[in-house]
Amino acid sequence: MKAIRVHKFGGPDVLKLEDVPKPQAGPNQVVVRIHAAGVNPVETYQRSGANPNLPLPWTPGMDAAGVVDAVGSGVTAVKAGDRVYTSDTLSGSYAEFTLCDAANIHRLPANIDFKQGAAINIPYATAYRALFQRALAQPGETVMIHGASGGVGIAATQLARAAGLIVIGTGGTEAGRKLIARHGAHHVLDHTTPDYMGEALAITGGRGVNVILEMLANVNLGKDLPVLAPKGRVVVIGSRGKVEITPRDLMSRDADIRAMSLFNASPAELAGIHAAIGAGLENGTLQPEVGREFPLAEAARAHIAVLESGARGKIVLIP
Ligand code: NAP
Repeated sequence: MKAIRVHKFGGPDVLKLEDVPKPQAGPNQVVVRIHAAGVNPVETYQRSGANPNLPLPWTPGMDAAGVVDAVGSGVTAVKAGDRVYTSDTLSGSYAEFTLCDAANIHRLPANIDFKQGAAINIPYATAYRALFQRALAQPGETVMIHGASGGVGIAATQLARAAGLIVIGTGGTEAGRKLIARHGAHHVLDHTTPDYMGEALAITGGRGVNVILEMLANVNLGKDLPVLAPKGRVVVIGSRGKVEITPRDLMSRDADIRAMSLFNASPAELAGIHAAIGAGLENGTLQPEVGREFPLAEAARAHIAVLESGARGKIVLIP
């Protein structure tokens, strides 16, 4: 089969399309024929060498959607031919086939296509964990999604809207902001304008925002804190550097900065997350948005694109 492989960590050009043996399913394992694979920022960090313990050669990717090709002994939840999405892989998802533990295989409802299926796992699981397991967001509260046009942001917008929150989403381009509004944000702001944090505060009538989901903390955390409501919570989801904050902005509000990594979610928490996502996909409140697709061979271009501004939902690779 064809797969992307990395033989040494580095820039996007270390992503090489190669012929490799097709994986075989062992006990409690599943092989999936991939129709689309999701591209997440984390794979660019890994490719650059952020996790030097990854064994080389390495195939990136946790997220994919496709059809079960084969199951190993002990697998009863799915069978060959079933439509599924993955929430982790053993062999990488930038490939024509991937090997997974059966626990990381989830049924893809008939109303969700394979490209959308590749846009589910990291974005929706992260958004769900940030909103409901870390921020403990409640219906009726206001959430500001600081960077709502990307994979995690669109997912958070849909989840928060469906749960009865008042949603303020930010995007850096006109196209991104239109998308945020289309996916359910009550208010949309431009994070490239000088006073958009003042506009967020004004939207709440000066009371402040209860929850902020932060995609770029190194740029925004210091200016998030003064717009929080009493007992407000910021959840740091993404950060690419250092930031200065004024702790008194937290003290005066009994406010919290919380942070998260999806990799810290326990198996029980992940099972809950995927049960909730499955229900939302089935009832139509969750509609993954794919903004751009690249052939598998052009994974390097996808890695450049995912770090550029101008997000429009998710980027996927097509084998
Ligand atoms: P993505 O699809 O590339 O989206 C990036 C988002 O950041 C876009 O909405 C972009 O908006 C926004 N952004 C750019 N400049 C911004 C600014 N100055 N202020 C606010 N937002 C800004 O990436 P993603 O998959 O959604 O991931 C978002 C971040 O979360 C990444 O840093 C990723 O590594 C991280 N993440 C962390 C976890 C975790 O477990 N902690 C899990 C998943 C993702 P425009 O393009 O419209 O400007």
